[in-house]
Amino acid sequence: MAAQLIDGKKVAADIREGLKKEINELKSKGINPGLAVVLIGENPASKKYVSSKEKACEEIGIKSLTHKLPESTTQAELIKLIDNLNSDSNVHGILVQLPLPKHLNEKEVMNRISPAKDVDGFGPDALGKLVLDEPGFVACTPHGAMKMLEAYGIDPKGKHAVIVGRSVIVGKPLALLLLRKHATVTICHSRTPNLKEECLRANILCVAVGRAKTITGDMVKEGAAVIDIGINVTPEGKIVGDVDFDAAKERAGYITPVPGGAGPMTIAMLMYNTVLAAKMAAGMKVEI
Ligand code: NDP
Repeated sequence: MAAQLIDGKKVAADIREGLKKEINELKSKGINPGLAVVLIGENPASKKYVSSKEKACEEIGIKSLTHKLPESTTQAELIKLIDNLNSDSNVHGILVQLPLPKHLNEKEVMNRISPAKDVDGFGPDALGKLVLDEPGFVACTPHGAMKMLEAYGIDPKGKHAVIVGRSVIVGKPLALLLLRKHATVTICHSRTPNLKEECLRANILCVAVGRAKTITGDMVKEGAAVIDIGINVTPEGKIVGDVDFDAAKERAGYITPVPGGAGPMTIAMLMYNTVLAAKMAAGMKVEI
């Protein structure tokens, strides 16, 4: 039987709608959520991501301020900009679009962002809080994956979750979030022997590798929920995930499409974190 499609576009639209109402209420109290986006150089994919984020911000009433800097920007200039944004009270969230040009020290830049404005959730403060189960900004893509499971009533409690990919921005935080919801979690990576065997144990299979068809249909357990986070462009120019969607959907219980799954959710959770940052900056009580 074909799997039920997890419609990330729809879940994201619902989240944005809720945020829009919340932002209107905040504005009536004089709080105007603002997101600063820093884009360096001419990377076409980065430019596309930034314009989607700007559009999403505008639609729900977040003030988006994009700082477009040339490829030749120095580390000192970038750090100065981050410092200025850190002290600007109109800016509640700061997002530096990655990857940065090779001559810049990405780690130093990311660590410079004030923890109170780290809406990407990539900094040591946000990640430390996640490990400690303390409230803090949760990285947008893993947070979006959790929200999709929640929206379709898939409770990780007692389930076996397998994550393929161990990056700091997706795999590791997602493992901690699933653990928080009482799943038993396995993290796989490029040195995992018997990836197929590991995947076949998954009630929830999350994949963030960056290679099309890493997961073939025969690696999916019958009835599993499959969350495909990968974004790849085929030689024909088609956007696909890391999972062989057509084959996997015949065995999975639930599956996310690419595009239309993790992508729109990531942007929605960025908006969510920006609203959260604005509320915290105003001293409001928040639940995370
Ligand atoms: P990274 O390159 O940082 O991490 C990839 C991970 O995949 C690594 O842990 C790597 O293992 C593992 N891996 C590579 N090859 C294999 C293999 N053959 N078998 C098992 N594991 C393997 O990528 P990201 O986490 O940043 O991104 C992953 C994908 O998700 C990309 O396609 C990216 O574009 C997409 N993405 C999508 C987002 C969205 O909004 N939808 C947001 C962020 C990312 P090792 O650690 O051993 O090298």
